[in-house]
Amino acid sequence: MSLQDISEIKQLLSKPKKIVIVPHKNPDGDAVGSTLALLHYLLMLDHNAVIIAPNDYPDFLKWLPKQDSILKYDTDQTESDELINNAEIIFTLDFNALHRTGNMESVLESSNAIKIMIDHHQQPDGYAKYTFSDVSMSSTCEMVYHFLNKLDALDKINQDLATCLYVGIMTDTGSFRFRSTTSTTHKVIADLIDKGADNTKIHNNVYDTNSFNRLQLLACALSNLNVLPEYRAAYITLSQDELQKQDYKKGDTEGFVNYALSLDNIVLAAIFIEDKQQGIIKISLRSKGDFSVNELSRAHFEGGGHTNAAGGKSDSTMEETVEKFISILPNYIKELNNE
Ligand code: 5GP
Ligand code: MN
Repeated sequence: MSLQDISEIKQLLSKPKKIVIVPHKNPDGDAVGSTLALLHYLLMLDHNAVIIAPNDYPDFLKWLPKQDSILKYDTDQTESDELINNAEIIFTLDFNALHRTGNMESVLESSNAIKIMIDHHQQPDGYAKYTFSDVSMSSTCEMVYHFLNKLDALDKINQDLATCLYVGIMTDTGSFRFRSTTSTTHKVIADLIDKGADNTKIHNNVYDTNSFNRLQLLACALSNLNVLPEYRAAYITLSQDELQKQDYKKGDTEGFVNYALSLDNIVLAAIFIEDKQQGIIKISLRSKGDFSVNELSRAHFEGGGHTNAAGGKSDSTMEETVEKFISILPNYIKELNNE
């Protein structure tokens, strides 16, 4: 994003506008945190701003300031369509291809609003007038902080806004341990703490609010863990029956794939989660080092993401999907063993 872009955006935001902010489908901590942070900022400037998420997000985010104002497209479609059609500006955060919004894709595509993308995923599409894309960034929340800095608005960051940004940086960096975590990330976090983010409370709210069922589901996932030592790969499966047995709620499987990656000598991990309603197997992939799960997912599972964290899907059965996964590993045997 050039200085010219920044000055144009400053100009655009200098008078109250109708603004819609959109995260990706199945929003995670970074998507919800970044959209809420931007919402807090825009409301301070007296804009008429609203977040429309494609669908619901996990309970462990349902304490964030102003989260109860988020509209969900799948249940509030009429109101959402009207807001999108009347919007002057649409911010799209934490994704870079409109199909990542599921059923919102067509209404977003046909909207005449000025689109502004802020995102850190690889290979951005060209739908936005202003594209703020940086794949080296830890999180979209860190980008929103730098965006506010460019707008000379760091003094607008209050405790609520700081809390939202902290959550997204924390969740997208695996609590500040992934390679994307830089000294700048820590400086941003330090400033957010200075501005009122309560780090202990935030960690507790996000990570220490497990239900008994979720831990039982984790036990099930770990008992389904399979290791393929020759490929330094490990994977977990969860069938719809297993999910239902533990009264599965959105977000319950968040982080499970990391247990597979935590095995000694494993550089590629996958979790396959059956979703009978959508008729798909949802796939989460993680890796260590230079092995790109973004590329693996783009090539084989209609997905994408980052080098070390990506997602995708399969329309086949669980058995066939796992078979496919295992069958493609020989193509990567060299890279996997180079790590
Ligand atoms: P997760 O496995 O946690 O759902 O996602 C890991 C990363 O990959 C996140 O940054 C997420 O936004 C991205 N991602 C997840 N699913 C998909 C997908 O189906 N397509 C693309 N392009 N990215 C995905
Ligand atoms: Mn993110």
